[in-house]
Parts: sequence; structure tokens; C-alpha cells
Amino acid sequence: MASVSEKLEAIKNQLPEEVTLVAVSKTKPPELIMDAYKAGQRIFGENKAQELADKSEILPKDIEWHMIGHLQRNKVKYIAPFVSLIHGVDSLRLLRAINKEGVKNERVIPCLLQIHIASEETKFGLDEDELYQLFESEDYRGFQNIRIRGLMGMATFTDDENKVSSEFRKLKTIFDNVKQKYFKGDELFSILSMGMSGDYHIALNEGSNMVRIGSAVFGERNYP
Ligand SMILES: *Cc1c(COP(=O)(O)O)cnc(C)c1O
Repeated sequence: MASVSEKLEAIKNQLPEEVTLVAVSKTKPPELIMDAYKAGQRIFGENKAQELADKSEILPKDIEWHMIGHLQRNKVKYIAPFVSLIHGVDSLRLLRAINKEGVKNERVIPCLLQIHIASEETKFGLDEDELYQLFESEDYRGFQNIRIRGLMGMATFTDDENKVSSEFRKLKTIFDNVKQKYFKGDELFSILSMGMSGDYHIALNEGSNMVRIGSAVFGERNYP
């Protein structure tokens, strides 16, 4: 079986230069993360705040940690001092909690807003109208300690590639609309996080510039 570093290399060879790889290390032990680190990987994604904080304590300090999962408001404090990017922000209430922790930690916390593009009910995220309501809200405009860097989404889990393509295409369209409407000329609003192990090729075709890949690097997980 191929090692972590071999699998990482094979994936990186398929990614255009401008695409950022987030190696999703959730549930995986620090030793495996170190294998990827030694192969040059510096950006890792976790979906539980406590696990992310614990791993950050014992692993090298130049790792950039991304929170990719659903984040509860009362857990923001565990990661606020150091997290590089929070991918799954899907409510004004969560954004408010992140802003508050940003103030406490005297830093601006980079965030992506999660958009609901899949047909499954279980996937979190805002729809397009809710997204615009958020940008128009007075609260949002007052947040000084968050920075919206772009959007994130997850496609339906299906073998139907046309469906996955069209969901990613929809997210790219929303991204372009939002950029035009609210972030024109703002170079920091630039990240479109879409694509995982099973669908990143499709996501890249549809304009993704950040992929979140777990099992294809670290092997299958026993639980999601
Ligand atoms: C687990 C997870 C991934 C990675 O999934 P793989 O299929 O293992 O690549 C990507 N994004 C999110 C939000 C996840 O929770």
C-alpha cells in the first residue's frame, strides 16, 4: 500500500498550482499527520474543535489549522487564538460568536461561509437568500474581528457526476455574484473551498481553488 507521503505527492501532482490542498486529518493520529508534515504538507483540516486544539498543542507550530466541520458557538474559544481558517460558518449567530472571540484574542479570524448546495437535508449551510440577508444585516457590518475570505460547500454524496457538477457550478455562480455585489476589488475574498476525496476532480473543473482531502491521503476512517 502507498504511504501517506506517496499518496500526498500523487494528489499534489494533479492539482493546479493555484489550488490549495487542505489535508483532512480528523480521527487520524499525530504520527500520520507528521508523515504528511515531513512530506511538506502544512495545512491540515479537522472537524472537531477540541480535537483540533489538542493536536495543535503537540504538533509543529508552523502548521496552519483549518476548522472544516460544523462549529458550535460554545466551542469557538478552543480554536480562536490560532485557527487559520474556519470553513463552515453558516449563521449570523456563529459569526457573532467568532467575532467576540476574535476581540478577546485581539485578532481577525478568517472565515468561509458555508452554502447549502446538496439535496441532502443533513448538510449544513446557508441558501443564497440567507447569504444576502447576512451581508445586508447591520450586525454583520459591525463585526471588526472576522474576515470573510470566501465560500465553502459540499455536494450531494452520489455517483451521479452530472449532479455533483451542477451543484459545484451553482456554488461558483453564487461566489461570483457575491464577489461582484459585496467584495468587488477585495483581493482577500478569493477562496472557493469545494471538493473532497471522491469529488475533487469535478470540483476543480467547476472552479474550486481549495480542496479538502482526507481519506485519499490518510486512508479510510472508521467513523465520519
Ligand atoms: C471529512 C471531511 C472532508 C474530507 O473527506 P474525505 O472524503 O475523507 O476526503 C472534507 N470536508 C469536510 C467538511 C469533511 O467533514
